[in-house]
Amino acid sequence: MSPLGTESNPLHVAIVGAGPAGFYAAERLMKEKDFAVEVDMYERLPTPFGLVRYGVAPDHQKIKSVTAAFDRTAKRPNFHFYGNVEYGTDMTLDDLKKHYHQIIFTTGAQTDRMLDIPGEDLVGSYPATEFVAWYNGHPDFHDCQFDLTQEKVAVVGIGNVAIDVARILSLTPQELARTDMADYAIEALSKSNVKEVHILGRRGPAQAAFTPIEIKELGELEDCDIVILPEEAALDPLSEASLADADRNTVRDVEIVQELSAREPTGKSKTLYLRFLVSPTRIDGDDNGHVAGMELVHNELYKTDTGTLRPRATDVTEYLDVGIVFRSIGYRGVPLPGIPFHERWGVILNDQGRIVDSDTREPVVGLYTAGWIKRGPSGVIGTNKPDSAETVELMLEDARAGKVLQPSQPSLEETEADVHDHQPDFISYANWQKLDAYEVAQGKAADRPRIKVTDVADMLKIAEE
Ligand code: NAP
Repeated sequence: MSPLGTESNPLHVAIVGAGPAGFYAAERLMKEKDFAVEVDMYERLPTPFGLVRYGVAPDHQKIKSVTAAFDRTAKRPNFHFYGNVEYGTDMTLDDLKKHYHQIIFTTGAQTDRMLDIPGEDLVGSYPATEFVAWYNGHPDFHDCQFDLTQEKVAVVGIGNVAIDVARILSLTPQELARTDMADYAIEALSKSNVKEVHILGRRGPAQAAFTPIEIKELGELEDCDIVILPEEAALDPLSEASLADADRNTVRDVEIVQELSAREPTGKSKTLYLRFLVSPTRIDGDDNGHVAGMELVHNELYKTDTGTLRPRATDVTEYLDVGIVFRSIGYRGVPLPGIPFHERWGVILNDQGRIVDSDTREPVVGLYTAGWIKRGPSGVIGTNKPDSAETVELMLEDARAGKVLQPSQPSLEETEADVHDHQPDFISYANWQKLDAYEVAQGKAADRPRIKVTDVADMLKIAEE
């Protein structure tokens, strides 16, 4: 047989997870000069693009234009897409090993972190990740119910997801109507009674996880004022000193927060309160077990041995009579069948992308990872490009050294027949493009970017027509 990486014996790679990390890995693999690679991408949902479709805010369409590059990748002749095929159930690790020299897991972070405080499970206390998935029309979440009859909402955390959630709750029906948000969510949010949104940061403006563009946007909403207490916008001496070595984003975040704190409310219908140095300690329920309020403790910052500024509770508390709580303190990875996992960190056990054995910590031949399930839920979409490239470099190095799995049925025909046996309703990229064209056409008629189909059975019907 000719050497691996030649036209007659290409490297066969399976990518599990069709989000940004998966597409960046595919593109990097197929760009390799003088080494022939065939890439098959598996995705649990019928639709590709992961968090670009189901995480990026529906009023941030420009960010979604990255899918044009993913589309170009998908149109390469050595790329194949198997949508609606779930790893671990439809296709197991052993099934994939029959067809591929290498398998790379790019499944992202699908669940949320918990606050670990009493009352977190009350009705009306929701993970922000579910709310985001719901308003973006994720088929697993389209039946969720959020009690938008309440007037006061708390969003815990000051990362960009918290900012997205707070902004979405504050948009007018006209602003919502211009987006590709799921129709049911536009309807529910347009009728919502929410008047006050309290975003709660446990540290100060110089430690905020949000980025300047996102925070600035909160001051530009059509019918929502922003209120920041000047005493919370002012930096404590430790934070002030830390600015000397801070990156540009941090400095800009602080400037914007301080500018916004100087504003007076202008009488708009809704108000966003951005708070710093407060932590929820307890969520209280009413007689029906529904969120009725939360206790907050005021924090001060102290410097750890490593030089980071951490929050520490003071003895000052206050009470916030909110009726809904969105917990937005970070996503978390979910273990995959047969793949070593670090429970505490919520990531696949790996060394720069090579999956390692739980006991020996030695690389497991043929298995790799990239994206949030490799490094944790941090960074913007583009951060995944170098992250995936780092893994792919190692994959190519291993392939050239012959450290690969030995698939017994690597041909496209054998693979496709096997996938069909396990999941007859798999979706090809051409199928997805039909669904995509349908959604865009529906959107055009309503002057919107697209109208999403949110039910898997409907997706399959349209995609296969
Ligand atoms: P994140 O950026 O990690 O922010 C998590 C926030 O939760 C931080 O403010 C953190 O505070 C806080 N937190 C953690 N544990 C807490 C606790 N026990 N009590 C109170 N607060 C707590 O996570 P994310 O907002 O989910 O975003 C995930 C990634 O996606 C980020 O990299 C983000 O930038 C990115 N993203 C980008 C965009 C965009 O570019 N527009 C939009 C959405 C998401 P500490 O800092 O004190 O830990």
